[in-house]
Amino acid sequence: LAQRIEHISTKDEIGDLTASFNHMLDRLEKSFLYQKSFAANAAHELKTPLTTMKAGIQVLKLEKSPTVEDYKENLEVTEQGTQRLIQVVNDLLTLAYEQTEHFSDDIELKAMLDTITQELQPLCIEKNIAISVDIDVKTITGNQTLLYRVFSNMIENAIKYNHKNGMVEVRGQVKNGATHITITDSGIGIPNDQLHYIFGPFYRVDHSRARGLGGSGLGLSIVRTIVEKHHGKVNVQSTLNVGTTFEIILPI
Ligand code: ADP
Repeated sequence: LAQRIEHISTKDEIGDLTASFNHMLDRLEKSFLYQKSFAANAAHELKTPLTTMKAGIQVLKLEKSPTVEDYKENLEVTEQGTQRLIQVVNDLLTLAYEQTEHFSDDIELKAMLDTITQELQPLCIEKNIAISVDIDVKTITGNQTLLYRVFSNMIENAIKYNHKNGMVEVRGQVKNGATHITITDSGIGIPNDQLHYIFGPFYRVDHSRARGLGGSGLGLSIVRTIVEKHHGKVNVQSTLNVGTTFEIILPI
């Protein structure tokens, strides 16, 4: 790793230059470490489904006389694996190509949220989750595709990390010159000491359970990136086993 200039701490121009050089090195080093861990996590996310698919194929090859059922089962595993790979690759692409978007679509917020909740209906039925949408805002301005992604991600999480027979409330109102959209769930909650980390790429509170639920761990990272590109902010409050509220604040 890069070496600092250790011995110059005078209170003159050289001292200032040394301090700022060392500071730059600190930032570079942090950035390298971040990139390295990002790449390692991404590789791991891609490797897991590939390993499962490879194991399935190997088992099938070892079968002396595989039946149609064996082939069908194997195809099922392969299809799930490829779907997961597509999801992770799409998430990675969204994080990588941040700069190519426009932010001036007029979006009917209520219509967008209704479409998302419709789309997530099968997931709700599975867990008997009741969703209510109460929006006091006509339009918001931004990138339609990216904001759809934000709300869809948040509402899907509110369902995924909920208990059976739980509820999800989506509210929207204008306050202090900004649009506030809150998504409240009655789910498992997030421990207080982990609230800081959940927006980091690949971070999951409970790795084994979250992977079983099919996410890539990139969802909230994408949400925060998109909201910040709209000059907005995401807040979160949570109580374990009571539920979580995410608030998205978008300037008008
Ligand atoms: P994932 O693909 O794992 O859902 P996200 O980036 O969307 O990844 O979320 C990161 C982690 O934050 C999740 O794995 C989960 O542990 C936690 N989390 C996100 N939303 C909620 C929620 N509404 N309730 C409880 N935990 C949540």
